[in-house]
Amino acid sequence: MRRRIRAALIGWAMLAAVLAVAAALVAAWGTAPLRRTATDLFLVATLVVGLQVFVGNSGIVSFGHLAFVGVGAYAAALVTIPEPLKAQALPDLPGPLRGLELGLVPSVAVGAALAAALAAAVGGAVARMRELAMAMATLALLVLVHAVLANWDSVTRGGYGIYGVPGRTTLWVALAGLLLATLVARLYRASRAGLRLQAAREDPLPARAVGVNVAATRFGGWVASAAMMGGGGALLAQHLLAFDPDQFFFALTFTTLAMLVIGGRASVTGAVAGAALVTVAQEALRQVERGGVVAGFRVPELPGLVQLAVAVLIILVLVFRPAGLLGRAEIEELLPSGPRRRSRGRAAGGPSSAAAVPADARPVLRAEGVVMDFAGLRALAGVSLELRGGEILGLIGPNGSGKTTLLNVVSGVYRPTAGRVLLEGRDITGWPAHRIARLGLARTFQNIRLFGGLTVRENVEVAAPAGASDADVDRVLEELDLEPHAGTVAAALPYGVQRRVEIARAVIRRPAVLLLDEPAAGMNEAESERLLATIAGVQAALGCSVLVIDHDLRLILRLCDRVQVLNEGAVIAEGPPREVARDPAVIEAYLGTAR
Ligand code: ADP
Ligand code: MG
Repeated sequence: MRRRIRAALIGWAMLAAVLAVAAALVAAWGTAPLRRTATDLFLVATLVVGLQVFVGNSGIVSFGHLAFVGVGAYAAALVTIPEPLKAQALPDLPGPLRGLELGLVPSVAVGAALAAALAAAVGGAVARMRELAMAMATLALLVLVHAVLANWDSVTRGGYGIYGVPGRTTLWVALAGLLLATLVARLYRASRAGLRLQAAREDPLPARAVGVNVAATRFGGWVASAAMMGGGGALLAQHLLAFDPDQFFFALTFTTLAMLVIGGRASVTGAVAGAALVTVAQEALRQVERGGVVAGFRVPELPGLVQLAVAVLIILVLVFRPAGLLGRAEIEELLPSGPRRRSRGRAAGGPSSAAAVPADARPVLRAEGVVMDFAGLRALAGVSLELRGGEILGLIGPNGSGKTTLLNVVSGVYRPTAGRVLLEGRDITGWPAHRIARLGLARTFQNIRLFGGLTVRENVEVAAPAGASDADVDRVLEELDLEPHAGTVAAALPYGVQRRVEIARAVIRRPAVLLLDEPAAGMNEAESERLLATIAGVQAALGCSVLVIDHDLRLILRLCDRVQVLNEGAVIAEGPPREVARDPAVIEAYLGTAR
């Protein structure tokens, strides 16, 4: 993953250069109001970037992030306002706070830490919710924190607002804050944690199947993002000098979310661009809104014009570019001659070059008497299955016979109604999917479940175990013939290629057990022929045990060491492929329907 980090640093340096030049121009030639607007812009952009870290990567809208800004701002105010002023304005302040007069950097640290602590306190519950509930909970958090700030008179002066904060946030300080925020956001987006959060955004089910603890990942992004908002709030406080709780409520929530959505929430560059675009539009229209002579024309007063324009801009962007102006692109990807990454992995031991590993009798995966009921429907009625070390086991049966359900039970998607599942001798019944995945089980899905908004390479990277290198990812992409598509977003690929991406995502994990649910479905003859070779090759190279479900009996008969047949949630036959194919019960239940 070194390459991702390097690209993020290059992109950040480019963005930093653009922002620094803009700041220098404003500082050299700008008027005082322009300098103030630029400072405002850097500060609001810092907040939007902080918001991007959670909203952009997780895909969950948070209406609560301004609560963290408020907490950071008030915390910074309370630790920086000079003692005599505090004695006058906040006579009832708790003792230890009275004499505190911290500098800029410590005050930002306090703001960030307090916001992070609040986020951590509520995050455990929030991160476990479903997306909509989570968005609602964030809204409740905003209202709650606002109520506290507006009524805790002895500490915040309530609705009267606080004043006397030292004005340390100059243009350059605001720029430094934004540069730090963009650096953190870019590194997070490129990191394993960030990539996992993006995978959970795209589809939590396969994310769990590649070992992502979705709730923990969301929690991490939530706290990191809150800390950035708190730090941003502390800087904002030392720019505003006096403020009240309403400044961290709905209006700025709407504005910052609008900036993020307009710029492109999946991109840090997009967050900054959105902030810049909306700020510039607001400033320009504010002139018009006031009425009078604008650029030689007489215009009447137009109250509400600015808000109206931002709202219209949002609607236009959502209609014509739902992913925002920049989509998922970062600054370095916008340049025509962006860094081309065509390095080929060294040809090291592809699957076909390894010697076949003989199957041994040791069961790697066992299902014992598994029963699975769905609201009145018994999908599995006491199914047992044994997958032995190094073998390829075929699981066949008519549609609706429970094959996928068995695979879902074994991989932790469902908790069985009764029965046990053992992986390498360990009872894993009812374990969450990500823990089972981490024990060495990998799978594909019957209805392809890729991370559609991520590139092919990212789909594989996110699944890679902790120690895997860029070269390992290159090798798997090459083995599955995916190199030409590495930079393409998975959702844009044809079906057959998507199937290979799913297999690559499983193979990079070097699993002990590989479960394939109808990998050849929808493939033509040539594609399924290649798939056959791929599966056999992967099995030989990894020495893993493979369970493959398929309707293509020719494929199953040629590929598998053993076959097990399900019908109406029960095992009706099991044995070597040729024997099973001749079994009258199988012909009756399965082949009979095909003739
Ligand atoms: P197969 O993969 O063999 O075609 P499935 O395992 O998908 O069969 O389905 C077995 C039975 O369980 C079917 O009747 C199906 O409708 C039912 N089923 C599967 N998943 C669910 C679910 N999540 N909720 C309710 N019924 C389900
Ligand atoms: Mg199925």
